[in-house]
Amino acid sequence: MNTFDVIIIGSGPGGYVSAIRSAQLGFKTAIIEKYNTLGGTCLNVGCIPSKALLDSSEHFYNAKKHFAEHGIEINEPKANLGQMISRKDEVVSTTTKGINFLMDKNKVTVFNGIGSFVTNTQVKITSEKGEETIEGKNIIIATGSKPSTLPFITLDKERIITSTEALKLKEIPKHLVVIGGGVIGLELGSVYMRLGSKVTVVEYCDRIIPTMDGALSKELQRTLKKQGMEFALSHKVQDVSKNGNEVTVKALNKKEEEVVFEGDYVLVAVGRKPYTDGLGLENAGVELDERGRVKVNEHLQSNVSNIYAIGDVIRGAMLAHKAEEEGVLVAEFLAGQRPHINYNLIPGVVYTWPEVAGVGKTEEQLKEEGVSYKVGSFPMRALGRSRASGDTDGLVKIIADEKTDEVLGVHMIAARAADLIAEAVVAMEYRASAEDIARISHAHPTYAEAVKEAALDATGKRAIHS
Ligand code: FAD
Ligand code: NAD
Repeated sequence: MNTFDVIIIGSGPGGYVSAIRSAQLGFKTAIIEKYNTLGGTCLNVGCIPSKALLDSSEHFYNAKKHFAEHGIEINEPKANLGQMISRKDEVVSTTTKGINFLMDKNKVTVFNGIGSFVTNTQVKITSEKGEETIEGKNIIIATGSKPSTLPFITLDKERIITSTEALKLKEIPKHLVVIGGGVIGLELGSVYMRLGSKVTVVEYCDRIIPTMDGALSKELQRTLKKQGMEFALSHKVQDVSKNGNEVTVKALNKKEEEVVFEGDYVLVAVGRKPYTDGLGLENAGVELDERGRVKVNEHLQSNVSNIYAIGDVIRGAMLAHKAEEEGVLVAEFLAGQRPHINYNLIPGVVYTWPEVAGVGKTEEQLKEEGVSYKVGSFPMRALGRSRASGDTDGLVKIIADEKTDEVLGVHMIAARAADLIAEAVVAMEYRASAEDIARISHAHPTYAEAVKEAALDATGKRAIHS
């Protein structure tokens, strides 16, 4: 039987990164993937394809809405969805092939097929070619997640769809009803809104992106509304049905009145659930928690000492970069190192335009924890850079400890916020004070100057440009 030091089941950002780090550390490593391509949800039907469509639709939207003000005269642009989708497929294909290259380069053995535990050290791989069992000293479960739905919804995957189908529609919806005002709903809702669909977001909570800082929810809703997105907040969806090409979503509003939304597509974006189907966890004795996630300790070790789990299949945010850090952590732990992840400093990003990003504690969390804090903020419209590009919506908000001035949270909605947030992560990793950020020179003119200005505002209201 083929034996390995480390076997990884699942090749998403958790699994493939863990494989590379394991190989770098000298372990004989294997990775098992049931799909034909490597890269998991993120590369195939998540982060990468959604960003490709966000970029294409943003070009279209700018051509339609903003070129004229920049003095660019063109005929009315037309959206060619087929071309956008094939470009997206091309981007995905190049990116997933890149993972094959990295596996080869690092001498990781790739097995195509469904991996399932035979014992706590043996994994059977089932594929069209037949069955093969391999043995591993250590096994890492990196099987990720799948879209969740609501009990009364039948996903027909044609009109009543999840993010996976929304990435390959054949036509631009006339009216896309989105259930869930979280990350997927707003990103994919933005794609089709920019291409001309009417988009209505039906959200259960009283604000969109409910886990992020409240200031971001408010500002994002305002800017998306300006772009044409419609919102029904505090609406509990009760029923979804399809009649031919029409879909109907029924929800109860705050007053318990029934509100009906009629469209031609409904995108169900109410979260994702851990995926462990067919893994045969019972054969290895691996325990799950009450939400179906593999139960792990601080070393990401399951209740079976040689079996670890990482990424979306365990607790915590379902983010690619969180999965990657965990993949590295397990490999280094197996090599006898003492790695650590500061989960408070895993940034969250929403790729709408403007982008939304946050790291550390939100104001709501600090209130609940009874921490005394001060807040500095700065509007993007006051920056020369924003006026030059026309990206004047948004703000940067810095929350610092009232007494020590240590930065506790940074939240922003701004052009390129997804990239800007890295400065806040570095600062907080080094336990910077707001004063530290305020005294760092930021190139002019840049969007990053808003971070410095918000820090100045947090330390004695001394922002220069507002
Ligand atoms: P996954 O990427 O889900 O990979 C798991 C892999 O395991 C899959 O390939 C699956 O086929 C395989 N597998 C499962 N069971 C078996 C088995 N028994 N045998 C063999 N193989 C198996 N996150 C971000 O950080 N930024 C983003 O911009 C972002 N955008 C997203 C957009 C969308 C539309 C979606 C749906 C998600 C997005 N995410 C984003 C979330 C991100 O995709 C996940 O957090 C990330 O992919 C989790 O990585 P993972 O390695 O844990 O699992
Ligand atoms: P989410 O948790 O971000 O949002 C789900 C939303 O649906 C919430 O606002 C919730 O209140 C709402 N909801 C739940 N039940 C509802 C109901 N019955 N009626 C109306 N609304 C309801 O989940 P998602 O948007 O599906 O994304 C899934 C995961 O994928 C997230 O954990 C996210 O981290 C990850 N993801 C990340 C990115 C990114 O990093 N940019 C992009 C896409 C997805």
